[in-house]
Amino acid sequence: MKIAIIGGGISGLATAFYIAKARPDIEITLFEKEEKLGGKMKTQEVEDFLFEAGSNGFLSNKPDTLELVKQSGCDDILIRSHDSARKRFIYKDFLCPLPESPKAFLLSPLISFSGKVRVACEFFVPPKKDNSDETLQAFGYRRVGKEMSDVFLDAMVAGIFASTPNKISVNAAFPAVVKLEQEYGGLFRGMLAKKKKEAGPGGVLMSFEKGVSQFIERLSNAFKIEIKTNCSVVTLEIKETKYSVKANHQEMLFDKVILSIPAFECAHLLQNIDSSIATQLRNIEYSPISIVGFGYNDLAHDLEGFGLLTTTSAQKEILGVLWDSSIFNNRAPLNKKSVRVMIGGQRNPTLALKSDAELIEIAKKGIQETMAVSTAPDVIFVERYEKGIPNYTVGHNAKMTKLFDEIKEYKGLYLSSNAYFGVGLNDCVSNSKKCAHKVIEEINSSLF
Ligand SMILES: Cc1cc2nc3c(=O)[nH]c(=O)nc-3n(C[C@H](O)[C@H](O)[C@H](O)COP(=O)(O)OP(=O)(O)OC[C@H]3O[C@@H](n4cnc5c(N)ncnc54)[C@H](O)[C@@H]3O)c2cc1C
Repeated sequence: MKIAIIGGGISGLATAFYIAKARPDIEITLFEKEEKLGGKMKTQEVEDFLFEAGSNGFLSNKPDTLELVKQSGCDDILIRSHDSARKRFIYKDFLCPLPESPKAFLLSPLISFSGKVRVACEFFVPPKKDNSDETLQAFGYRRVGKEMSDVFLDAMVAGIFASTPNKISVNAAFPAVVKLEQEYGGLFRGMLAKKKKEAGPGGVLMSFEKGVSQFIERLSNAFKIEIKTNCSVVTLEIKETKYSVKANHQEMLFDKVILSIPAFECAHLLQNIDSSIATQLRNIEYSPISIVGFGYNDLAHDLEGFGLLTTTSAQKEILGVLWDSSIFNNRAPLNKKSVRVMIGGQRNPTLALKSDAELIEIAKKGIQETMAVSTAPDVIFVERYEKGIPNYTVGHNAKMTKLFDEIKEYKGLYLSSNAYFGVGLNDCVSNSKKCAHKVIEEINSSLF
């Protein structure tokens, strides 16, 4: 039995880990087109500053990533974010702390008195009668009102998905929130009921001593498979009962193939196998996003907190600023500070694709306008993603049900990446584990 895993991001690596753990006898080859594994999990060291090109870490309130960290022997490098980083800010027309308690919310200048009354009325808003999908904006306007939605949901969705409330499906992007309405009749009702049931913290942001790449390196050494880096798969074909994979001018045959690459890359590989499936994959939208990191040898701002997110109404060119050196240890050398600025997303897609020099200027201006910092950075880092984060549009879940039904027709072919059922690291790991179990189950059942 030979399995090919195409893509060496967290989805491909986690899938490989779980298959190799359950069935060390199976021959697995993982193909990664870049020189280094990790995909969107990539830490770059610039003059002793550590900048994350993509994900910063993961929340501890879901079990799968923590379990993977433990099982791969990486607990010794796991670190938690500083308690002071719980403090977050929103920039509307001014910088304001995100209220952390009902009292702070009542006193917050982020929304008006009538906006707060409307939020309180959520308790009496009847649940939606059907299960049809809607945008996060429609959901927010219906349940908590326009003002709350335009400030809090708008900033939050920019920070998580680089999207805007009117362009993202609430069912696909925030299933837990929809579940509160469906199961308890409303958000407040659901939160109160859940609080009674599950006492405990909501989750802490976790990462690794030397950044997420340290975990990727350790994880990829925690199991024995063949890993081919600098090896882009260019063709996938069906040859009788096998799959033929072509990479680096070489053809190899496999019994099973797991595609852990972005949906548009899958579309390219599956075009000649099933053009309808390829079209569905190509139609999964992605948001462009760029990251500009600044390191400061001497910055007066205390960076006391996690950072800030802007609202669309603020009309700023930046989506937000993460105060990196305050979130985790080791991101900046002693007594130095660092931040990362997010630019683009669905709010301003073209900005993400500007030149490095333009992105740096946008980031400097954004920091000046939102944090009143005009200190010139001593170290600069830039990363640009033309297609960075999948943007689950309305109807995404139904489209995925159809897509996964159709892919079942191709025995031994699997899709596992952030394009389908969640973009966070926790979702990627959890879905990879499910995919690995499915593969193993099918192998085991074919023996009898
Ligand atoms: C800027 C940014 C910030 C983020 N921040 C967070 C965060 O703080 N917390 C969080 O939980 N999530 C975060 N995310 C989301 C999370 O990082 C991603 O969803 C996750 O890392 C995706 O993993 P993946 O393996 O599914 O895909 P990818 O990481 O995209 O991996 C796919 C891999 O496939 C390879 N590949 C593509 N085509 C081929 C081919 N033909 N042959 C061989 N290899 C190929 C690519 O080179 C890549 O390595 C962030 C994402 C971005 C972009």
